[in-house]
Amino acid sequence: MSVSHLVIEDLWHKYDSYKENDWVLKSINFNLLPGELVGLLGPSGSGKTTLLRLIAGFENPGKGKIFLNGNQISSVDNVLPAEKRGIGMVFQDYALFPHLTVWQNVCFGLPSRFDLSRAEWLIELFGLLDLRKRYPHELSGGQKQRLALARALAPGNSLIVLDEPFCSLDVAVRGKLRNELSNVLNSCSATALIVTHDPKEALAICDRVAVMKNGELHQFSKPSEIVQSPSTAFVGKFVLQKNLLPIRTLSNKYKTTLGELMISNEVKINESPQVCMFGSDDIQISNDLEVNSVVVAKEFCNDHWIIILRVEDELIRLRHSLNIQINIGDKCHLSFKKGFNGLLFPGKIKCFSN
Ligand code: ADP
Ligand code: MG
Repeated sequence: MSVSHLVIEDLWHKYDSYKENDWVLKSINFNLLPGELVGLLGPSGSGKTTLLRLIAGFENPGKGKIFLNGNQISSVDNVLPAEKRGIGMVFQDYALFPHLTVWQNVCFGLPSRFDLSRAEWLIELFGLLDLRKRYPHELSGGQKQRLALARALAPGNSLIVLDEPFCSLDVAVRGKLRNELSNVLNSCSATALIVTHDPKEALAICDRVAVMKNGELHQFSKPSEIVQSPSTAFVGKFVLQKNLLPIRTLSNKYKTTLGELMISNEVKINESPQVCMFGSDDIQISNDLEVNSVVVAKEFCNDHWIIILRVEDELIRLRHSLNIQINIGDKCHLSFKKGFNGLLFPGKIKCFSN
């Protein structure tokens, strides 16, 4: 069995009912290296499921091409049917057959005289051996999820696509299964693309992560690169929960409601920056100065608070130690900490405050 290598070249898609040029996917370029676990991350409606359906062969592209192991499997004129692709798919709702047992679900659709030793091995690998005679309604959510994965891997598929596979599981089972996933995929020499809307999940388990918004890929990098260097303001906010604040430009100075920011004189600017991005640790609160914000929510996070403040029309997250007495509705003064470093977008330009 060979490992998969998927290449997506300038892929565009729109559904039949959509107007001309109303694309759901816009010029997606993307690849999966053999044995990789790649995460596809984006808000609801950004086109994640649509991209999976194109890869699996359930939709035809409007423009562009898909290659699997060097063979073209999708283009505008030529689409290899889903059943001939050898791609396993795990759906959000598991899509198990309710009238078949665990064992029958795993073996469903395997050709007659197919070597069942792989199915046996998968049942054992997923801890389903004692449950093989049960029906899906007799399984817990985690067991159903394992069964869906075993079924996708049973035919010997070396590429598996998973659509929000853990979304209906409780936190503990979710954590356990996602940690098991990469081991299991490794044991099967499988390459996988996993869709999730949970940034922590994607960064925690994936080798690389693709971040999508409105059908466009904003970044495709290793988790550590995304954390260190988000490529757009959207990636910073959605994946890393960074704050964004609009800026007004005055020569090399940038005014915000929280204070002035500067950039180094040596930096060349091609495009005028619109927003400043900074973390929840980069700002401070005080109540003895002019009011510029109001507390709208606070989240208790074991060893610190996240305080959400409204600044003009923006919601800003501030991290604070537990030793603060602050209530929803309190008005306060928010400012940048001394020596703080932020980024201006577009352009990803380093800025600082005095
Ligand atoms: P995600 O999985 O990221 O939540 P989807 O790929 O399901 O996003 O949807 C992307 C966009 O395409 C959404 O605006 C959605 O309403 C639309 N869409 C999804 N499926 C269809 C369909 N079968 N027909 C028409 N529009 C669809
Ligand atoms: Mg979806």
